[in-house]
Amino acid sequence: LVEIADIRKRFGAVEVLKGISLNVEKGEIVAVIGRSGSGKSTMLRCINGLEKVQAGRIVVDGIDVTAPRADLNLLRQRAGMVFQSYNLFPHLNVERNVTLALKLVRKLDTPAAREVARAVVAKVGLADKLLAYPDELSGGQQQRVAIARSLAMQPTLMLFDEITSALDPELVSEVLRVLESVASEGMTMMLVTHEMNFAKNVADRVIFMHEGRIHEDGPARETLLEPRTAELRSFLSAVL
Ligand code: ATP
Ligand code: MG
Repeated sequence: LVEIADIRKRFGAVEVLKGISLNVEKGEIVAVIGRSGSGKSTMLRCINGLEKVQAGRIVVDGIDVTAPRADLNLLRQRAGMVFQSYNLFPHLNVERNVTLALKLVRKLDTPAAREVARAVVAKVGLADKLLAYPDELSGGQQQRVAIARSLAMQPTLMLFDEITSALDPELVSEVLRVLESVASEGMTMMLVTHEMNFAKNVADRVIFMHEGRIHEDGPARETLLEPRTAELRSFLSAVL
């Protein structure tokens, strides 16, 4: 579903991705881990076209992201992305936060968009908050709305960049549970996370990035329990 071949990305003189190659199969849950500055977010942003690579090729669900005239709108429908900051529209209630893109991008009429919104908002456990405004919700609830908004577009791939990092500890698990249920429905997911238990228990595969390269890539449990490199060992002992 995702094919990345030897991508390179630099910001000014600094090369941040130094030749990354990676394939993700349909239905795979891939946790991306690594130190701050190792290039995790940049890689995800390249995958959904928020950053342009200087070399290499990325194909997502048949769309050549690196082609000069890639259809980025279509790409972002296929590859939904959720960030640490939920970026909900503060002046719109939950339902309208979710229906906005359905109407503007997918061109659904209001009743159809509402129906989709009800379904995805229920899926993240917030059916009773449909008419609430973002500032009436907890951080965990807002993040679940952001996930629902992404799911509403019926993506084939979901990219999550540290979506629990800004949350109070007691709100993390409700968001992880939603991720787990999305995963159990067969969604292909790539998630940058510091939740090593989640990575171990829910991800199929772990990718450890180090200084702009993929330093280890393997089955989740094996990679986390028996790291092969000193760099991953030292990273894990620092976060656990
Ligand atoms: P973190 O765990 O802190 O989120 P990360 O692994 O996601 O780190 P990136 O955000 O991908 O790391 O950043 C990798 C490197 O690229 C860092 O050195 C960062 O300073 C640099 N960088 C990222 N975005 C930009 C930008 N827009 N302009 C210049 N440098 C950038
Ligand atoms: Mg990051």
